[in-house]
Amino acid sequence: MSKKLFIILFLLGVFLQHNLCFAKEWNSHRSSHFLVYYKKAPEDFIDEVIETAEEYYRSITSDLGFTRFDEWSWDERAKIYIYDDLDEYVKATNQPSWSGGSASYSEKRINTYPHASGFFDTLLPHELAHIIFREFVGLRTNLPLWLDEGVASCQEKAKRWGSAKVVKKAIADKKFIPLTELEKVSLRSSQDKDLVELFYAESANIVYFLLTEFNRYNFVDFCKALKEGKKFDEALHKGYPRFDNLEDLNRAWISYLENE
Ligand SMILES: [Zn+2]
Repeated sequence: MSKKLFIILFLLGVFLQHNLCFAKEWNSHRSSHFLVYYKKAPEDFIDEVIETAEEYYRSITSDLGFTRFDEWSWDERAKIYIYDDLDEYVKATNQPSWSGGSASYSEKRINTYPHASGFFDTLLPHELAHIIFREFVGLRTNLPLWLDEGVASCQEKAKRWGSAKVVKKAIADKKFIPLTELEKVSLRSSQDKDLVELFYAESANIVYFLLTEFNRYNFVDFCKALKEGKKFDEALHKGYPRFDNLEDLNRAWISYLENE
């Protein structure tokens, strides 16, 4: 056998073995919008994952106003990988052991494991909202982190309703970070737990303000303009004509909080 042929056969063998292993190891369930992969997780847990994910899909697309938009589409199902336990999840994803799950927008994929704390209430709506939002505005759109995280955090019920209190306290304590500064906060390197908490609270609350104090068409027009590649201030003005820039939005947001 020539050396070249041997290498080709060897690589083919590795490829087939990998794929057969994959086929053997992962079970899958599909629903209208999701494909759930799992190994040993109990069936009733998988059923609940599917049911809850479909419910969140409905409530998030409707909350963001995307279902009122004719061109909204969800071409490929999102994938949810349920690893057997924390160890396997950490090994496969390289995520830190404190993270209960993670999402890749480009792969439209959520990774997690059963019994990750807050899986149904926090993790699933948060990661799903990230994927739905990016499906609408596009992966390449360059956005401030607070907008991505705000849209996602706003779908966690605790943050949706609890964030106003945290932001009001920050205003009273003179720790509030205005929107123009919020985009400069670097979370990756931050060890400051209070700063991270404030960042997420402000992000969730400003998105809550944009969603609930105006018509959903405003938010959809804003997202459409972002998708078309308009600059942030321009997109903001397109969706919310009374704001010309972040400073205008910041002022209106503070006065809403003060009068709430
Ligand atoms: Zn997030």
